[in-house]
Amino acid sequence: MKEYWHSVILEEDFCNGCTYCLDRCPTQAIRVKNGKARIIAERCIDCGECLKVCPYHAKGALTDSLSMLSEYKYNIALPAISMYGQYDKKYDINKIFNGFYNLGFDYVFDVAYAADIISKYQLNKIKSKTVNGPIISTFCPAITRLIQIRYPSLIDNICKVESPMEVAARIARKKVKEETKLTDDEIGVFYITQCPAKITSIKNPIGIEKSNISGAISIESVFTKLLRIYDDIEVKSQIRESSGTGIEWAMVGGQSYAMGIDNYLAVDGIEEVIKVLDKIEMGKLKDVDFLEGYACVTGCSGGPLNVENPFIAKSRIRKISNKLLENRSSNANIENYDENILEWNKEIKPIPVLKLDNDFKKAIVKMGKIEEIYRILPGIDCGACGSPTCRALAEDIVLGRSKLSECVVLKRKEKK
Ligand code: SF4
Ligand code: SF4
Repeated sequence: MKEYWHSVILEEDFCNGCTYCLDRCPTQAIRVKNGKARIIAERCIDCGECLKVCPYHAKGALTDSLSMLSEYKYNIALPAISMYGQYDKKYDINKIFNGFYNLGFDYVFDVAYAADIISKYQLNKIKSKTVNGPIISTFCPAITRLIQIRYPSLIDNICKVESPMEVAARIARKKVKEETKLTDDEIGVFYITQCPAKITSIKNPIGIEKSNISGAISIESVFTKLLRIYDDIEVKSQIRESSGTGIEWAMVGGQSYAMGIDNYLAVDGIEEVIKVLDKIEMGKLKDVDFLEGYACVTGCSGGPLNVENPFIAKSRIRKISNKLLENRSSNANIENYDENILEWNKEIKPIPVLKLDNDFKKAIVKMGKIEEIYRILPGIDCGACGSPTCRALAEDIVLGRSKLSECVVLKRKEKK
């Protein structure tokens, strides 16, 4: 299997093997061996759950830095929609966005405006849906990857509409190329991000061959810089373009609200999303039109690279969007954008990392061995062996990642 680049990393020196992350990982991608956690790369969906719970800050996200701007002649900043919720109401978000000029950018484009456009385009897709069960949003790449790994039967339900950050990158790049006559290689496009899963999806795009984004800089790394220079920021242009509907995308339920639909499910928190995907897989939610699922609680306003408390950020975003939506009509005109800009063009394939063996017969034999070992284990899922559950330990033993002697409960029994 081709090596998959991940934003979420483990800094071994900080890890003290506490196993907090073990229980929280939704894909059972973490093992703790010899007092240190490690991530099974092919299983990780970069949801950032381990990053949020690690009390020793041993998990981090690989991001780019502002120094990367020097590699390009012209730089574009794309602030994530969740930035709308990061600053107290006394700070004007348009002025904050203008602060990116002070940080060395030449152009700033409002990603929420791209979400305005996609809201309209996605609504058309939902109206003409042909699949059984809900169309599933791809806005949270952690969820899309979860489907690839754990719910291959739901791949056809994935809405192959491009994400706001990628559409924003395409629109901004095109505009800058026309105005400056620079080439693609001379233009840097940087997403100012709340999220490791988005960073991973820039480096390893799911529905397209190559991202239009050159790098991703975390919101937390620019947050204070923008605050410090706030009084000196000169407002050169009106960057906030969104009508308000696009801003809603930073919150759970926001996409459906922006599209004005009511037969939808909006689910936040990876565990809850898993429960709903289980139901869809069982054919139980056939009458629902649309599912927006977010790995983070509250949606992207709860992304791990944000600064503000997710609920405070959500409340601020709602207030800003309500104010803008007093005049609820988006000025985004989808006729100006064709499907080359708004759609994925690459097939989405299952990622069979949970398969025991490529050879079906061997896989059956391994499954039998797992059951045999599982029956010997205590079944209390204590995690002391370094695998998240007794069944995961049984699987690890069969796959050569662990030994039966690592079960501390069995060991204790043997000693008695
Ligand atoms: S980022 Fe998510 S999937 Fe990856 S190891 Fe951490 S908790 Fe598991
Ligand atoms: S909910 Fe948003 S911030 Fe959280 S993982 Fe998904 S895309 Fe990233």
